[in-house]
Amino acid sequence: MKNATLYLDTRDPECSRPAFSETIVKGIAPSGGLFVPEALPELTLPEILVFADMPYWRRAASVFTRFGVDMSSDRIDALMKRAYGAQWDDERIAPVIEVTADMHVLELWHGPTSAFKDMALQCMPLLFSESVDQLRARGSADEDYLILVATSGDTGKAALEGFADRDHTNIIVFYPADGVSDIQRKQMVTQHGDNVGVFSVRGNFDDCQSAVKAAFADKEFNAELESRHNLRLSSANSINWGRLMPQIVYYISAYADMVASGGVKAGEPMDVCVPTGNFGNILGAYYAKLIGVPIGRLMCASNENNVLTDFIATGVYDISDRDFVNTPSPSMDILISSNLERLLHHLAGPEKVRDWMKELASKKRFQVDRDTFYAMRESFSGDFVTNDESLQVIKRVHEESGYLMDPHTAVAWEVAERLRGEDPVLVVSTAHWAKFGTDVHRALSGLTYSDNLPASVTSLSGVELLGQVQELAGGCACVPKALAELDSATERFADVVDAGREGIEGAVRGWLG
Ligand SMILES: *Cc1c(COP(=O)(O)O)cnc(C)c1O
Repeated sequence: MKNATLYLDTRDPECSRPAFSETIVKGIAPSGGLFVPEALPELTLPEILVFADMPYWRRAASVFTRFGVDMSSDRIDALMKRAYGAQWDDERIAPVIEVTADMHVLELWHGPTSAFKDMALQCMPLLFSESVDQLRARGSADEDYLILVATSGDTGKAALEGFADRDHTNIIVFYPADGVSDIQRKQMVTQHGDNVGVFSVRGNFDDCQSAVKAAFADKEFNAELESRHNLRLSSANSINWGRLMPQIVYYISAYADMVASGGVKAGEPMDVCVPTGNFGNILGAYYAKLIGVPIGRLMCASNENNVLTDFIATGVYDISDRDFVNTPSPSMDILISSNLERLLHHLAGPEKVRDWMKELASKKRFQVDRDTFYAMRESFSGDFVTNDESLQVIKRVHEESGYLMDPHTAVAWEVAERLRGEDPVLVVSTAHWAKFGTDVHRALSGLTYSDNLPASVTSLSGVELLGQVQELAGGCACVPKALAELDSATERFADVVDAGREGIEGAVRGWLG
C-alpha cells in the first residue's frame, strides 16, 4: 500500500484529516462540509495513454491506488473486478462513441440500471463495506450500517442495486408516490437482495426528502437503532467522496480512448460538456484535468433550473428568488448544487467556503471574490437549455445522425454546440433514452414538453411505450434487457407510508422487525 492520502474538511482549516476508509463511512465532514483529498496524484501523458490497453476495472484500480486509498492494491483490484464486471452490458463499461467527426459521446449508462449513477454506485458500496471491515479490524467500530435514501427515481434504484447483499450494510429507499415513472417504480420494487427495503411515501419528492432528513436528525431514533440493532445510519449521497472518486476515472479513460481512436491527437486538448445537477460529474472532469488529462474547457450544461449558469456568468449564487422548475431532465433539477463546495475549496480555501456556505444558508445567496471568479472562469463555462429546446435537440440529432439520446444528454449536446471552440468535444451522456421514454416519445413526435401524449399512448405501461418509441426511431434503438423485462418481473415491495418523520421511522422499525 502506498502512503494513504488524508482528507480535509471544506469548511474547517483545523480539521482532523481522516484516511479514505473513514471518509467514505462518515460521508459528510464534521463541520457539515465535504471531504476533499489534501493532495492529488499527477499522471503523465504516457501514463494516461496506456489506459486504452487496459480493461476498465484496471483503469479504476490504477486511479484509486494513485489516489492513496488506504487498502492494499490486491484488494482494490479484486473490488474493481467486481464493480466493473459482467453486470455491464458493454465490456468497455464507459465507451466513447463518435457521433459526428468532432462531437464524441461518452456513454455512462451501460450499468445495471441504465443510468450514470451506476458508474459510482456499482463501486462505492464495495469500497464502503471494505472500509467497515477495516475499521472493525482496527477495533475502531463494530456496528453495521443502514443506508437511507430518498429518491426522485434514478438514484434509488442505482443505490439498491449497488448495496444489495453487500456485507455490513442494509439499505432502505423511499420514493414519492406521486413522482416516479412507471419504469422507475418497477425498477425499484422488483429489486433483489436480502438487505434491501423499498417504500412509497404519500407526497412528492420534497416531502419524501424532508422526512428522511428528519429521521437522520432524530437523536433518539439514532440511539434506538444503535442500542437495539447495532446499526448506524448513513447515506449514499453524491457528496460522499466514495461517489466522486469513481467519476474521475472515466474522464482519464475517455481521453485515452479518444486518442486511440484518432478523435484527438495525443497531448492536444479535448473539451468536455456535462449535463449538471449536483456538480459531481463535472467535478470529476475538473479533477481529471488537475491530475494531468489534457482537458480544455469544462462546459457546465443546465436545464431551466439554471442557477449554475448564472453563477458561472456572474460569480453570484442566488436562490433567494428562484422557483424549482419541472423539466424533462429531472436528475438535473436542483437548487443547491452541493459539490460546487469542493471546487470553491480548491480555489479559495476553507475560511471563505465556510463564510459563503453560512451566507447561502441564511440569505440564500453568496458572491465569490474576484480571484475565485476569474480562477473558475479559466476552466468553466456554462449555459442552459429550455424544456422545449431539449426535446427538439433529441429529434434533430436523431434525424441528422441516427443517434438517439435521452433529455439529460440532449441538454449537454445543445450547450456543447453553442459554446464549443476548435477542439474536439466530448459530450457526456448520463442516461439511456429508454429511462425517459415518455419525453423521448414527445420529442420524436414533434411535441413540446407541455403537450399531452395521445390517450392511446398514456394508457400503455412504461415498457410498452418504449416499443412505440422504437418504432418512431426506426428500429435501430434497442431497449436494455433489464428494462424490457420489467413488466413480467415480480414486485416485492408494496408498502405505502405517510410522509413526515414518523412515517419514515415507522417504516424502518417495521422493516427491521
Ligand atoms: C445525477 C444525474 C445527473 C447530474 O449529475 P450531477 O453529478 O448531480 O451533476 C445528470 N443526468 C442524470 C441522468 C443523472 O442521473
